Parts: sequence; structure tokens; C-alpha cells
Amino acid sequence: MGVVGKNVEHVLIAGGGLGGLTAALALLRQGFRVTVLEQAPTLAEVGAGVQLSANATRVLGLLGLDGVVAAYGAQPTGKEIRLWSTGQTWQLFDLGAASVQRYGHTYAMFHRADLHKALAEAVKDLAPDAIRLDCRCESVDMSGPRPAVLLSGGGRIEGDLLVGADGVHSRVRRTIVGADQPVFSGMHAWRGVIPTKQLPEHLRKPAGVNWVGPGRHVIHYPLRRGELTNFVGIVEGSNWNVESWTQQGSLEDCLEDFTGWHEDVQTMIQAIDAHFKWALMVREPIERWSSGRVTLLGDAAHPTLPFMAQGAAMALEDGYVLARALAAHRDDVPAALSAYEAARVERTAKVVRGSNGNAARFHNPKLADAQGAAQYIEDQWAADKVRERYEWLFEYKVDEVPV
Ligand SMILES: Cc1cc2nc3c(=O)[nH]c(=O)nc-3n(C[C@H](O)[C@H](O)[C@H](O)COP(=O)(O)OP(=O)(O)OC[C@H]3O[C@@H](n4cnc5c(N)ncnc54)[C@H](O)[C@@H]3O)c2cc1C
Repeated sequence: MGVVGKNVEHVLIAGGGLGGLTAALALLRQGFRVTVLEQAPTLAEVGAGVQLSANATRVLGLLGLDGVVAAYGAQPTGKEIRLWSTGQTWQLFDLGAASVQRYGHTYAMFHRADLHKALAEAVKDLAPDAIRLDCRCESVDMSGPRPAVLLSGGGRIEGDLLVGADGVHSRVRRTIVGADQPVFSGMHAWRGVIPTKQLPEHLRKPAGVNWVGPGRHVIHYPLRRGELTNFVGIVEGSNWNVESWTQQGSLEDCLEDFTGWHEDVQTMIQAIDAHFKWALMVREPIERWSSGRVTLLGDAAHPTLPFMAQGAAMALEDGYVLARALAAHRDDVPAALSAYEAARVERTAKVVRGSNGNAARFHNPKLADAQGAAQYIEDQWAADKVRERYEWLFEYKVDEVPV
């Protein structure tokens, strides 16, 4: 176990995804030296969307990236619920100006590649050599005074602190909590991106839409200033257990999964050119993210079902809070990491549990017939219940939480 209590100057981050790059940028701005070890040979993100609520766009603003939100984010006016069979529509909540007024920041929807590129450029502006590609963390050596990453192709890199931001299959997490036992949720996700101009006029609205139905749901929303539309379809009763962003299924299988659904959903599925298929796994929240001079953030710490659209938002928040905690306790690593965990563990566990709970809500059998469905939706998505489910998330201030 490493000697603790000495100063932190050089932070290693395993994984250069949205969480790792946010942490890198926040740490650089606090004056730390940072090395990001990313397994991929080139810096890239998958072709998919990510929604960021006000709690997360606040992080981008604090990191000097308001211009990126304005330039690349689609800023919808609101969110809607639609019924799988009839297409009946309910307004869920207002976004746009209402989000800024209420939470101080907007709700924006990004192409992941745009956001990832902007974060990487901001990191490189401050430290041109901070990101090292083709560096896959195979394991972690914690036997010396400083943690070291052992790379897949051979090679060893030491730092004063190691942050595992290496996603849902994290190698760093293994050194802290042992081998993970994710449980297949019995659900898979279809995802695809559609050039918005290919869709009929009424599907081009600048809104986030959540179609709900028995055993499945669909989310779609605009990306890249509205030029693209992101589609995600979740299906229960699946035996597809490949957890990968790059695995494809077929148009026919995707259509079959949504047989009987409203023609707007069929139209969108037809317009997707590559139908990616991802198994959704469930993992129980863990209470300890750190050991000695090694800690975790993002999906490596708290992988979640995507049913609150908060996984990336939590990764961004983690990165910012971690940098604040380290800056506040520069000479005391245990104090910094325990302040970090105290600020983050409960909130992220609540997101994991809330996301699990949304599966039952979005897929409820009561949605099967239109009359019962209307009653169910008006009850479950009543303004007070929506506020209770989301307000605590959106109003969080990453720069004010005590560390
Ligand atoms: C269908 C779907 C829709 C979603 N929609 C939303 C949404 O709208 N809003 C939202 O907030 N969240 C959403 N999420 C969740 C979000 O995508 C994740 O929570 C987020 O990507 C986590 O970021 P991360 O940086 O922790 O991990 P990742 O994005 O997985 O990044 C991990 C990085 O580490 C690298 N890496 C992995 N292993 C190693 C290794 N051994 N060594 C070195 N590098 C390594 C990877 O190449 C990658 O670059 C969604 C998820 C899914 C599945």
C-alpha cells in the first residue's frame, strides 16, 4: 500500500472519455500536472447523443466551455411524454429559458463526439502532451509509495494519484473492489443517429421526447444544433447480453422489437442507417471508491442504467468535485479522497436507484391500453412527482458542495 499524506502534483487518469477529460481539465485548471492514459489509438467518441441537464452544463460553464454549449448543443424547449400506441402527447417540463431561469444553466443535447473533442482541445490547450493514446491500463501496482499503471503492451507509469475513469469495464475498479459481477438487466438498447432533414416536419421539433409503452420505451432528441436526431429504444425480455457501444443489430430486428408502435417510431427506425445494440447491465452502487492513492470516477465508480440520462452528467460532476477536493487538501490525500467520496457516493447511488426505478415506470403494463395509460401518465408525470424526481439533480451546484 502506498505511503499517504504527501503532496499530490502529478495525477494519472486511466481513460479519456467524457469523465476522464473533464477531470483532467478541472485538475489542470487547479494547477496539477495530469497524464491521461487512453486505450484507443485515436481520440474519438461513439456516434451517439448525450443529454446534459443544468447540473452538468454548469460544470462545462465553470470550465470555460459555455461557448461549446452554445456552438454544439441543441437546446430544446421542453420534454414530452408520448404514448406508444396512439402518439398522444403530454408536456413533461419546460427546458430552454425555463432551465436557465430555475437552475442558472441550460439543458443541452450533444453529439458525444462534439463534446469529447471540445474537452480534449481544452485539455491540450493547457497541456499539449497530457493525453497519451494507445495506453491501455492492464493492471495497477499499489505496492510502492506511488501508484503505477501497468500498460498492456508493457511499460509502467507512476503518478502521485491514480484516477480510474476507464468506464464500465474498469481495470482500476478491480484493484479497489475486486472483479465485478454485473447482472444482465434483461433489457437491450437500440441507438442510432438520423439526419433530421430526413424526418417529417412534425418530428423535427426542438424537444426531448420519451415514448412509453408496456415493456419498452423510446427516447429521441435533437443533436448538433438540431441537424441530427438521436434515437434510443429500450426493450425488455431480451437475451442480448453484449455490453458494447460498437456492436450492431439489424433494421429488421429493431423494427420487430417495436411492432405495433406508433408510425412515428417506425419512421425513425427506418431512417437510422446503423442500428447499434447494447445490453444493459445492472450493478449495485458501491460505498468505497478509493484505496490509498487510487480512486474512481464516472461509470468506473457507479455504472447506471441510462433511464435518468445522468451517467455522463455524474461523470462530469465527479471530475470537477475531485479536482476541488484535491485542491482543498493538497497535502493530505486521505482527506481529499474522503471529502470527494462524501460529496459524491450518496448522490450517484441515488441516480443508480432512481434509474432502476424508471424502468418499471416507463415500461408499466398499465400503459397497454390507451385509457388506463392516460390515467397512469397523468399520475406518474404529475408536476409535483416530476419535481421530486428531478429537482434535486438539476439544482446541484458542483462548485458549492462542501469538500
Ligand atoms: C444508451 C445510453 C444512453 C445514454 N444517455 C445518456 C445521457 O443522455 N446523458 C447522460 O448523462 N448519460 C447517458 N448515458 C451514460 C453515459 O454514456 C456514461 O455514463 C458516460 O459515458 C460515462 O463516462 P465515463 O467517462 O465514466 O466512461 P466512458 O465514456 O465509458 O469512457 C471511458 C474511457 O476509458 C477508456 N478505457 C476503457 N478501459 C481502459 C483501460 N483499461 N485503459 C485505458 N483506457 C481505457 C475508453 O476507451 C473510454 O475512452 C447513456 C448510456 C447509454 C448506454
